[in-house]
Amino acid sequence: MAKKRIGIVGAGVNGTSIATACAARGHEVELFDSGPAFAETSRKSSRMLHGGIRYLEQGHFGLVREALLERDEWQQLAPDATRVERFFFPIYKDSPRGRALLYSGATLYQWLAGRFSVGKSRLHSIPEVTEVFPGLNPNGLCGAVSYCDVVMNDERLAETLVEEAKDHGVSLHEHTPISRIATTGFLDINGKLQEFDHVINAGGPWASSLLERSGISSAFALEHVRGSHLILKADLKHALVFQIAADQRIVFAIPIGQGRTLFGTTEHTHHLAEPIACSGQEIDYLLAIYNQHMTHQIDRSDIESTYSGVRPIVRRRSESLSNMSAASRDSEIEIIDQLINVFGGKWTSARRLGSNVASLID
Ligand SMILES: Cc1cc2nc3c(=O)[nH]c(=O)nc-3n(C[C@H](O)[C@H](O)[C@H](O)COP(=O)(O)OP(=O)(O)OC[C@H]3O[C@@H](n4cnc5c(N)ncnc54)[C@H](O)[C@@H]3O)c2cc1C
Repeated sequence: MAKKRIGIVGAGVNGTSIATACAARGHEVELFDSGPAFAETSRKSSRMLHGGIRYLEQGHFGLVREALLERDEWQQLAPDATRVERFFFPIYKDSPRGRALLYSGATLYQWLAGRFSVGKSRLHSIPEVTEVFPGLNPNGLCGAVSYCDVVMNDERLAETLVEEAKDHGVSLHEHTPISRIATTGFLDINGKLQEFDHVINAGGPWASSLLERSGISSAFALEHVRGSHLILKADLKHALVFQIAADQRIVFAIPIGQGRTLFGTTEHTHHLAEPIACSGQEIDYLLAIYNQHMTHQIDRSDIESTYSGVRPIVRRRSESLSNMSAASRDSEIEIIDQLINVFGGKWTSARRLGSNVASLID
């Protein structure tokens, strides 16, 4: 295999994973980011390395199974930055999904993981669930269903991935915006053109803007959805998943240590020109959900901080997207001459994506 010179735009989890996979195959890799590595979407996630239990409802069994195997690979790679957590769905009289449906889903989720399962799914009585969560609103509570999944310390995992890339010989150029990219293998860096055998656009939510600026037409378009989280001064023994009847969504409450809980997310159509920040409306929405489900009522003074990320939802230009929650978070890879575009993805599937992209170059 001939050694190639590869230029990659975007040092999030996708670009970094691609860079490592390419360098591991003996290529010379330069990785560029307009800011620090892992400062954008990859630091704004819900911190789960998961199959995505909610995608079972849409019948994406293959996708869920694949992600559950990838979850295991993350545990092997970074045992210090990952941990198993039990997630409880409290079930109320008016919950959109009842005991039977949730228990079947949770059991199927465990079954799909096969020997990579991280714990049994369970049904819980009212006393069992209130013993774990004494602060749960008891009005209309019928019990709970729980399942196990993996959560990450995303900051530590990002450091591991950057170190791994450097150890493989990747040259990382932070604070180096790429103004244009060319299908002939050029990157425009501060007005200077650099030539590569292949260039890879892993610009996350900004991947399509870079193409537009460069006058390159793609078969794929991105729609942007902002997801915001609150970091609450609240202590939970395990994670909770609240079902929201009004919009058919689910919201996670995940303990992250030191008496804090990660609470989110929202789903708002986002225009890239707007700042990526949690709006007052999103704060009110999330606080209302928390207060509906817990007896101890909280307000803005209980919020330690907030953060927001933008999910690029990929669609073929010929398709429209009517239900953003229903869209699977799958990725698309597009090759145009020496340019490879990567759109979408998940933290969980980034390493698989990295090796898939690298294998296109061999
Ligand atoms: C709210 C939310 C919750 C999520 N939760 C989960 C979860 O729990 N589990 C999971 O598996 N996935 C989750 N995801 C998805 C996951 O976070 C993303 O798929 C992943 O982080 C995308 O990584 P990326 O490298 O494509 O994008 P990014 O991390 O955004 O990286 C792209 C990089 O490209 C750089 N860039 C862009 N344009 C240029 C340019 N012209 N020149 C130089 N640099 C450029 C940017 O600065 C950025 O650093 C979530 C996403 C969101 C938004």
